[in-house]
Amino acid sequence: MIPGSFEYYRPASLSEAVGLLARLGEEARPLAGGHSLIPMMKLRMATPEHLVDLHGIADLKGIRQENGQVVIGAMTTQAELIASDLLATHLPLLRETALLIADPQVRYLGTLGGNVANGDPGNDMPAVMMALDASYQAVGVGGARDIPARSFYQGAYFTALEPGEMIASISIPQPQAGNGAAYEKLKRKIGDYATAAAAVVLTRSEGRITSCAIALTNVADTPLLAEEAAQILIGSALDAESVAKAVAAAETITNPATDGRGTAAYRTKMAGIMLRRALARAFERAAA
Ligand code: FAD
Repeated sequence: MIPGSFEYYRPASLSEAVGLLARLGEEARPLAGGHSLIPMMKLRMATPEHLVDLHGIADLKGIRQENGQVVIGAMTTQAELIASDLLATHLPLLRETALLIADPQVRYLGTLGGNVANGDPGNDMPAVMMALDASYQAVGVGGARDIPARSFYQGAYFTALEPGEMIASISIPQPQAGNGAAYEKLKRKIGDYATAAAAVVLTRSEGRITSCAIALTNVADTPLLAEEAAQILIGSALDAESVAKAVAAAETITNPATDGRGTAAYRTKMAGIMLRRALARAFERAAA
């Protein structure tokens, strides 16, 4: 289908972009890689009157280390995450996750900022950002504020961004020594969104888990932080009994739709299986 008509803007700076978003109001949307927004526009599920293309803003690109954090510009593409030596060394979980998103064509244009801002429960990066305790720098004409990923997602396509705000960067605390992380995703075929997926970030000392964060993708209207499940595992050596309890706790908080990917019951069980696999790999990696 053909999208509705819209006005196109290409600001050269962040201040120009937020000025445009404020002036044009609720009918304006930032345009990043366009790989979620344009399909929605073609289906007429989104009909913005103004598109503010972020590609001309150099400040929104790049990956750097700053005060114990890895800071990633919102317009950094998924392909650039995969190619980054800095991430390969300090946050290999991002590369692992980006490789599970769609296909190379989508990843060359799709951005990290677009993926986390979109609010689609099927996007993979939000759960990973919640498990990593990342925060998003939201910028508007009134200034900038940091929003924790863990409180950003309010419903399907509803986020904590205020009208006129956009994400400029994503900050991720650099993982501690003894850290292990994994993202496990079940999908029907290459290029598919998750039937269910699980992100795990943990630390291990003398064979026991000393900290743990778990988040789930596409098994509710928002990504889910499985706090009780993570708490159960702290102090354990990832023994079968603790894992079974944690998986049961994680499954309890899911509320997936029955759809083409399976029944709600099946998708809940798959979330549990993805969690088991992610826990085993993260635990093993933490020991290496
Ligand atoms: P856009 O499509 O340009 O924007 C998405 C939304 O975010 C829009 O509402 C836009 O206004 C807003 N936005 C963009 N940037 C900002 C910003 N900086 N601040 C505030 N708001 C912003 N994704 C997955 O996670 N997993 C998958 O398996 C997957 N499979 C896919 C398969 C196909 C065939 C396709 C076409 C897409 C798939 N995607 C998948 C989506 C893809 O990852 C998108 O690129 C991503 O969801 C959005 O990023 P984008 O840069 O394309 O953003």
